Amino acid sequence: MSQLELNSELDENFEERVTYFADVILPIPLPGTYTYRIPRDLEEHIELGSRVVVQFGKKKILTGIVKLVHETVPKVYEAKYVLDSLDHAPVVNTFQLEFFAWLAQYYMCTIGEVLNAAMPSGLKLTSESLIQLNPESEVLGSEMEYSAKELAILNALKANDRLSFDQVSELLGVKMIHPVLKSLLQKESILLFEQVKDKFKPKTVKTIGLAGQFLEDESAMQLLFEQLEKKPKQQAILLKYLSLTRMDEGETKVRDILKSSLLTGDLSASSLKTLVKNEIFIEKEKIISRLDEIDGELEKNHSLSSEQQKALEEILLAFQKNKPVLLHGVTGSGKTEIYINLIQQALENGGQVLYLLPEIALTTQIVSRLHKVFGSALGVYHSKYSDNERVEIWNGVNNAKINLVAGVRSSVFLPFDNLSLILIDEEHESSYKQYEPAPRYHARDAAIWLSHLHQANVLMGTATPSVDSYQNALDGKYELVELPQRFGAGKLPEFELANILTSRKSKRMKGDFTPELLEGIKHTLEKKEQVILFQNRRGYSPYLICHDCNHVPKCQSCDVSLTYHMHNNVLICHYCGHKESVPAICDACGSTAIRTVGFGTEKLEEDLKILFPEAHIQRMDQDTTRSKYSYQHIIDRFERGETDILVGTQMLSKGLDFDKVSLVGVFDYDRIVHFPDFRSHERAFQLITQVSGRAGRKDDQGKVILQTGEPDEPLLYKIRTGDYKSFFQTEILERQNFQYPPFYRLIKVILKHKEKNILQQASKHYAGRLIGELGRQRVLGPQQPVISRIRNLYIEEIYIKIEKKKINVNKVKELAYKLGLDVKQHRDYKTLRLYFDVDPV
Ligand code: ADP
Ligand code: ZN
Ligand code: ZN
Repeated sequence: MSQLELNSELDENFEERVTYFADVILPIPLPGTYTYRIPRDLEEHIELGSRVVVQFGKKKILTGIVKLVHETVPKVYEAKYVLDSLDHAPVVNTFQLEFFAWLAQYYMCTIGEVLNAAMPSGLKLTSESLIQLNPESEVLGSEMEYSAKELAILNALKANDRLSFDQVSELLGVKMIHPVLKSLLQKESILLFEQVKDKFKPKTVKTIGLAGQFLEDESAMQLLFEQLEKKPKQQAILLKYLSLTRMDEGETKVRDILKSSLLTGDLSASSLKTLVKNEIFIEKEKIISRLDEIDGELEKNHSLSSEQQKALEEILLAFQKNKPVLLHGVTGSGKTEIYINLIQQALENGGQVLYLLPEIALTTQIVSRLHKVFGSALGVYHSKYSDNERVEIWNGVNNAKINLVAGVRSSVFLPFDNLSLILIDEEHESSYKQYEPAPRYHARDAAIWLSHLHQANVLMGTATPSVDSYQNALDGKYELVELPQRFGAGKLPEFELANILTSRKSKRMKGDFTPELLEGIKHTLEKKEQVILFQNRRGYSPYLICHDCNHVPKCQSCDVSLTYHMHNNVLICHYCGHKESVPAICDACGSTAIRTVGFGTEKLEEDLKILFPEAHIQRMDQDTTRSKYSYQHIIDRFERGETDILVGTQMLSKGLDFDKVSLVGVFDYDRIVHFPDFRSHERAFQLITQVSGRAGRKDDQGKVILQTGEPDEPLLYKIRTGDYKSFFQTEILERQNFQYPPFYRLIKVILKHKEKNILQQASKHYAGRLIGELGRQRVLGPQQPVISRIRNLYIEEIYIKIEKKKINVNKVKELAYKLGLDVKQHRDYKTLRLYFDVDPV
């Protein structure tokens, strides 16, 4: 044996004794990763992106993601063993790990916070998890073998509907429960969820099948036909069933078909009911996966108009230059059709597509259009879905079953590994920004960064570009493509201004309605057309006031007035959710003269019912759209023409497309435009343009009646004439003069504490140190926000304002972050909360 061979043999022996360690990202707000020792028997299952179960602290069990596997023994602490690995293949890929790390750095939070937001709780087995039976398991796993412990858990779940970790632990009399839970998870017998609202309910469909005896015996079928001879409606159903199942062509196996596919045309549901009652047909309820094929033919895309075609070609050309594209197309210009075209091309080339939408409000109409074109290739990821539905999409993307995701901001976290196109619809929407909790990310900006990782194309579409994006286009960072005309013969709506002041003087107002608007509504209803009324909620909700002493009921733990909710006659704090009943007498002076002030959508709805008793009126706002499908129902009813007047908040402004809306009424423009914020003009332009865009599409020109006390306000003229460029020019000068974005970057520092004095000291101290490093002119505050206390915590804010050019913003962030940690170390400030909002909107 040569010296060389001997050495390699030694190496191999040595290799076998190497212990591996995993650096694990845990879903907690502490910085850094944690190192755990990998037990021998798990070595082959643990790699980058694997889910591992570990103990954290004395009691907590958490699921983390492996960021690195290595051989370096940690110096500072004794590494504990990884308890288990949950999968055979990683659930998080390297693109995601890189993306999460970037998000944490850019938005000044921990990677654990990013992970926590990114992963659906159904993928996180932690001591905070709750478990439930998988409602689908009866179908899936009837032949499973279960251990005694597993059976004990399943039986307990049948009786209890959900169990916590502690309850399971108590039930089994052991501490280490994750092996049993893991086994049940792998058998798909249980599901994890975190909060009661996430509990999973399966989606079901009703099916209809012919009773078996009619096939076994030909004469039975004959008899049936004779029986139904005199009942043509029932007979028609039978015939339809036979043809759908091809039994009329000699097919001999009973098939269950969708009830909805049988009841098309003028076939009657009540006749089918009779057939079911007489046991000729059998109706069943079947659980379906949301990823099942849709029935029927997929729709073709429309052929593009020459303007659309031209825009498409410009977009493709820009993609070749590897630049994000900003598509500025007026409302109704047919942007969706262009998106569909691009999606098709990307999918045909084998890439993945992410279609970002600002909120569910937008998704229903667009998603149903996409679903008709792309069928089951489409996954929908949205905030009102249960956690288990999110897990399905996550896994669907991970195993390449879903290549097109339409989703809200959190869909940027999905496990894409081959993104080729990202569409950002309504890019100007502020709901792309997450406020609470960390990461406080902007999905548009994050998506653009994501596109670099995947070398994907990016298209942002909107009728009202954000000032930031438009400036980026002018600077050549983005390519600009324009669609200045509505599709087909559609024209942009005509504007009429209704002067509130003059009507008020001549006492011709009815409540908050000008005579012009009332006349407009009346006229529209007479023509059997529909009306949309827009009432901005922001800073404008109804509250109570005592007419004798001016006392306004406030929340006990926040510095805000309570909002009055008429339908259930309660006062609610919109910041902490605190509820109380409406007082009969004033808390301050005992008077009974308590009145409501201000009005919201609810008050408008009430007034309308009196003014137009014949009309069907529907309200759409946060209160009427809490449940998963309520939004959809409101839209459906409106589309079918069952609603005459739809009253709502900014939810109405987003991408809806109705044929019969010929009038849009706008309340309180004045408040929107004068809202104390440097973006108020931008918001006003966007909001009013978007809401107005709902009036008159396709062939008819619609009308907008806008109520205002200042008909000569300069921005209003630009909105009425749809002059985006002129709006932009004025706005960008202001931003430059007053040193605001996009010329300056803002980082907001938020500090909270339950003692006002301590908070003020800490804020001054932190601001002082920032000023020492950055200079006075780059630090604003500390100051109290408009609402200076929420949930019993006092709040102070500091703005860091840095010029975009010449300053290394990463250095500034590092510094501000480090100073923040320093301040929190101080013994007086242990319970101080201090966090950052980068690029606040
Ligand atoms: P946008 O998103 O730009 O506001 P939409 O995509 O909603 O506009 O299009 C406006 C209307 O025009 C929709 O009713 C849509 O179905 C119709 N439309 C757009 N492009 C076409 C086309 N190429 N062929 C037929 N109809 C179209
Ligand atoms: Zn009073
Ligand atoms: Zn409150």
